Amino acid sequence: MDTLLMKEEQGDIVYEKAGSILRKGGLVAFPTETVYGLGGNALDHTAAEKIYAAKGRPSDNPLIVHICNEEMMEPLVSVIHPKARKLMDVFWPGPLTLIFPKTDKVPYETTGGLDTVAIRFPSHECARKIIASANVPIAAPSANVSGRPSPTIAQHVIEDMNGRIDMIVDGGNVGIGVESTIVDVSGETPMILRPGFVTKQMIEQIVGEVLVDAAVTKKVSETVHPKAPGMKYRHYAPKAPLTIVSGKEKAVANKILDMVKEKQEEKQKVGIICTTETKLFYLKEQKQAYAPIIKVIGSKQDSKAIAHNLYSILREFDNENVSMILSEDVSIGLLKEAIENRLMKAAGHNIIHV
Ligand code: AMP
Ligand code: MG
Repeated sequence: MDTLLMKEEQGDIVYEKAGSILRKGGLVAFPTETVYGLGGNALDHTAAEKIYAAKGRPSDNPLIVHICNEEMMEPLVSVIHPKARKLMDVFWPGPLTLIFPKTDKVPYETTGGLDTVAIRFPSHECARKIIASANVPIAAPSANVSGRPSPTIAQHVIEDMNGRIDMIVDGGNVGIGVESTIVDVSGETPMILRPGFVTKQMIEQIVGEVLVDAAVTKKVSETVHPKAPGMKYRHYAPKAPLTIVSGKEKAVANKILDMVKEKQEEKQKVGIICTTETKLFYLKEQKQAYAPIIKVIGSKQDSKAIAHNLYSILREFDNENVSMILSEDVSIGLLKEAIENRLMKAAGHNIIHV
């Protein structure tokens, strides 16, 4: 299949083309404020099946349905709890996905067989204009091959989806860089199924008590069953194995340097993910043979930058010849939970405490 590539700045002609492809059951990748999404008509079960096929995504991993106004969700959900309404009033449009009991209108192919449906109202203008032009709710998971880091620029989407989908809309770099916060509001007490830019504290301020699904922080096992089916799959993973090193700054750097040395003796290169503040620890290694590839993810003072840069750095390492990646534990600040969740999943929960 030929994939049409258009730029957001081409304006109305892009929205018209994307809308027409989506209405006819085709697939279009487009930017949102979180990551790039891979859209298809949420009410058309064959479009949903095409999304699973393009991503290589297991069909029990449900899709998030994107809308461009609240009226669009009325036919899709059977109950809106008052607490859900409050969250919608405060955080929509924006990076918050809510889970509701679904109506018969939503095909089980879209919800991975569940009786609930995930709804998101993005704030990104291009995403909203494309949904409006399609005039149907749009199922849109992240536009990456299943298991890979989510795309934050159009080039990432091209790498994963060129030839597999009808169209890619290039809207430049996304703002946030990690996926939406998911909150299940189908029961009495809201429960966070995936942390994101909208934090637990922000949600608590609006609705009081909030639970957090165990699978957000723990490795999924026989005893931990995630409420969001997607959380059980390996995710966000770079090609080289990733290990997180956690502890005091200097001890972490020493451990990483020891591991770099070991690999150098085996004539192998290591990738290092560090911060602006800790980069200095590793610079002296740069003169050695098999010098490590050092990537700075951002300042320790700026958790938004760290969250934003995480996926692109993981993808950059795929183009470097490194046999392993060592990351400082960069889950800090306001977005600690979101960063920790993505980094731990990317590392397959492989963490060394020093
Ligand atoms: P992605 O589309 O890659 O952002 O992933 C969507 C996430 O939303 C996955 O982890 C899904 O399991 C989760 N999700 C979507 N619909 C539901 C639902 N009805 N109930 C629980 N989790 C859901
Ligand atoms: Mg995804």
